[in-house]
Amino acid sequence: MKYQTAAGGLEHVWNTSWGVSTRLIGGLIMTHSDDNGLVAPPKLAPVQVAIVPIWKTDNERNQLSVVGNQIKADLEQAGVRVEFDVRENLKPGAKYFEWEGLGVPVRLEIGPRDLASGQVVLARRTGGKAPVPFQSAVGAVTAALDEIQAALFAAARERREKNSIRGATKAQFLEFMKGSGGFVYAGFCGDPACEAEIKQQTNATIRVLPDPEFRSKEAPKTCMWCGAPSIAEAVWAQAY
Ligand SMILES: [Zn+2]
Repeated sequence: MKYQTAAGGLEHVWNTSWGVSTRLIGGLIMTHSDDNGLVAPPKLAPVQVAIVPIWKTDNERNQLSVVGNQIKADLEQAGVRVEFDVRENLKPGAKYFEWEGLGVPVRLEIGPRDLASGQVVLARRTGGKAPVPFQSAVGAVTAALDEIQAALFAAARERREKNSIRGATKAQFLEFMKGSGGFVYAGFCGDPACEAEIKQQTNATIRVLPDPEFRSKEAPKTCMWCGAPSIAEAVWAQAY
């Protein structure tokens, strides 16, 4: 795409290339989920908290409805996205299962005994359950959402680094690409012929020239493949 400049010439526009599509959603699912289904990072989860009431009698149901709606309102006031699951045709266990599969980060369970002791049970999608007093429910939920978000991010970053090598030599690069593969951060000379040779011999191509925050601590001085001076650190991987 070109545009006419004030001076009358034609110039290319600067385009972004985010590729925000189903791919991005696929990446999210593959990065964070487990054998029980989706794990949605709190910041992106359409529903962050599911409140599941547990009742036997109509009286219990009515009492739980008041408390559940109050907790929901308090959480929404704090900017949390909440569903209060009052469906009558499903048992609590079936509801837990459903919200888990949908990746909802936090579930609040509340039954008659919790009501009597003034507490809810906070269950995390990533594991762990603990009772929380009504008065501190909002603080406990927002803290749990923050912790889950931070833990998912840290785990994803750790996994990426475990599958990456930095500052590789040509020999290490070849061995890595023959094995389980992953990401190689290495110096690149910028020569298309060098890039083509690497692709031909290893199937690996440059995935990205990383921004400063993703680069290795020490900038590579030479091209990992040909030894010429490096013009940029590149991330190499095999596409599949
Ligand atoms: Zn080179």
